Amino acid sequence: MADYDPILSVRNLRTEFSGGRGDVRVLDDVSFDVGRGKIIGLVGESGSGKSMTALSLMGLVPKPQGRVNAGSILLDGTEISKLDAAGMRRIRGRDIAMVFQEPMTSLNPVRRVWEQVGEPLAIHKGLGRSAIRKRVLEMFEMVGIPEPQTRLDAYPHQLSGGLRQRAMIAMGLICEPKLLIADEPTTALDVTTQAQILRLMRDLRDRVGTSIILITHDLGIIAEMCDEVNVMYAGQMVEQANVFDLFENPSHPYTRGLLASIPRATEARVARRMPSIPGMVPNLAKLPPGCRFAPRCRDAMPTCQRPPDLETVGTGHVARCWLHAGQTALQSEATR
Ligand code: SF4
Repeated sequence: MADYDPILSVRNLRTEFSGGRGDVRVLDDVSFDVGRGKIIGLVGESGSGKSMTALSLMGLVPKPQGRVNAGSILLDGTEISKLDAAGMRRIRGRDIAMVFQEPMTSLNPVRRVWEQVGEPLAIHKGLGRSAIRKRVLEMFEMVGIPEPQTRLDAYPHQLSGGLRQRAMIAMGLICEPKLLIADEPTTALDVTTQAQILRLMRDLRDRVGTSIILITHDLGIIAEMCDEVNVMYAGQMVEQANVFDLFENPSHPYTRGLLASIPRATEARVARRMPSIPGMVPNLAKLPPGCRFAPRCRDAMPTCQRPPDLETVGTGHVARCWLHAGQTALQSEATR
């Protein structure tokens, strides 16, 4: 957790969905901070809760089945978790914005790009069409869209995937939000475009000062981009550390498994994927007792049948694992 004045402070966030088999807790006691001007990574496999965290922060959890029903989300000192739909609409796009993985699903195919990118300016700043068009042109130049004047009037399908993602980043930043959430922003792009988009996001953080939550399953991107990392598993935070500590001293067996799965170049310079973590993320409606990672964990022991808490393993570094429980806890367990 940040020991400074964060732009975002999330505490004990709980999000649930109702279904035929009762309530399912998709986020359980999630807490983390985002420092001002920092890039924070949320990493984990599909189903770990990364995107649900983003939707909870944005007030976009699908209703009526889903709801944030406990915890606190402080954005620059303002509690936003209790805002109603109109209150969230007022801050969404202005104070907190989101870039999704596949822009085609977020862009309206029958509206010109400039009108969509500039829409937050109409909603939040009340600007007229010519002022909006001028500002969108500036943003297109800033995010490196070539021939920006002619792209203004394009429809989404007339842009490449990389240009659409640049347009989405322009839309996310057009009101200079305090926080940008980027959910797998480069997954659908080729490697070259991916590198360009990541560089762009880092440059924009440096120039505009926007804090960024970067959601990805790719630890290589985390290493390149982030100041701090939050590792999620089955709806919980399982490890939090600054990026150097996480890579130097991964403390949770799940994090170690993720790191071991990163493709490495062999001496023959052939990309080779290391063994991945056996098994799958559990069904949240049928969680194992105790540690949620236990069925996949090589280090599991009898103690792991009880749920572990987050334990401090270093300065600003915590892990949810009995391997790091205090000696007192282990001793009391041994005498039961
Ligand atoms: Fe593995 Fe036990 Fe740690 Fe869970 S608590 S990650 S099962 S060692």
